[in-house]
Amino acid sequence: MSSSRLIKIFDTTLRDGEQSPGASMNHQEKLAIAQALVDLGVDVIEAGFPIASPDDFEAVREIAINFKGPEICGLARCNDADIDRAWEALKHADRPRIHVFLATSPIHREHKLKMTCDEVVARAVKGVERAANYCSNVEFSPEDAGRTELDFLCRVVEAVIAAGANTVNIPDTVGYATPMEMGRVIKTLRDRVPNIEKAVLSVHCHNDLGLAVANSLAAIENGAGQVECTINGIGERAGNCSLEEIVMALRTRNDFYRCDTGIDSTKLVPTSRLVSETTGLLVQRNKAIVGRNAFAHEAGIHQDGMLKERTTYEIMRPEDVGLSSTDLVLGKHSGRAALNDRLRRLGFDLTGDDLNRVFEEFKKLADRKKEVLDDDLVALVQ
Ligand SMILES: [Zn+2]
Repeated sequence: MSSSRLIKIFDTTLRDGEQSPGASMNHQEKLAIAQALVDLGVDVIEAGFPIASPDDFEAVREIAINFKGPEICGLARCNDADIDRAWEALKHADRPRIHVFLATSPIHREHKLKMTCDEVVARAVKGVERAANYCSNVEFSPEDAGRTELDFLCRVVEAVIAAGANTVNIPDTVGYATPMEMGRVIKTLRDRVPNIEKAVLSVHCHNDLGLAVANSLAAIENGAGQVECTINGIGERAGNCSLEEIVMALRTRNDFYRCDTGIDSTKLVPTSRLVSETTGLLVQRNKAIVGRNAFAHEAGIHQDGMLKERTTYEIMRPEDVGLSSTDLVLGKHSGRAALNDRLRRLGFDLTGDDLNRVFEEFKKLADRKKEVLDDDLVALVQ
């Protein structure tokens, strides 16, 4: 563990996550989630986009005033009004961070910004300089970096670091990159940008092809020091890199990645539930780490293995993510060992023919019902 690198966890549940269709949160709800993120131990909370609305501004301002510990970050487009408004919201924070972004890909340059490469570089530098006048902690994101020419991306990154950015975040805004490509972008920046050591490289991956976590891990393998992510992976369209998945991947496979985070993983499930209840965005049952089935077993062979030795079918302990225990679900795929284990815990000590008879009745019931509950078993035995 001693040679591990510490990866910064930048949570954007309250900004990118809140942009999920149907997920907008009110003021009080945002404060409750900010508290949960502080308790979870994230390094940076992106609290919102202050110029987007008066309510967004107020939420960022209150989070900046009230929450100590993590850096509190606000997003701004690359123009004076946005940057000034972001600073106005953040200025009372102990550790403020202004996050400035400007698109760099040819598609965005030509169709959205109608700017040349030189104009994009000049605007990015001007924005970072303005933010750096307010605050020594400035992050710059070349939006749609995943589809930006690598030579031009290197040029932009070098210029914004020289202008004062101490974090450079590489967003795969449209979720188009593959893990190998994402890794190559990070490696190229580290190899070719002469002042790269003056900034932390970060990634912000979207999940349109289901690759957000894999792409983020590839970036970390190639030297990224910060990951942007959200609770439950919520965010624009198919969402962002899921915080709980990246954290548990780094932790469970520390032997491979040699990276740690400052996250208290036992708070992952409670935080996931809070965000799900607040936003109304349900967590899919088979979602990794925090889904209801993530530590549940129904198949007889698996249940038998689990009862003999947990590590036969589990690579993580449920307690480590904040669940009380593994869930051996009794259904039609379950076997005698799991049934007997549950009966004993309910206070019934059945053997031989008695156990066989209950098992037969249990199987009949399980054919009709998806899940056999403790009350059903008590009724069966009696
Ligand atoms: Zn995003």
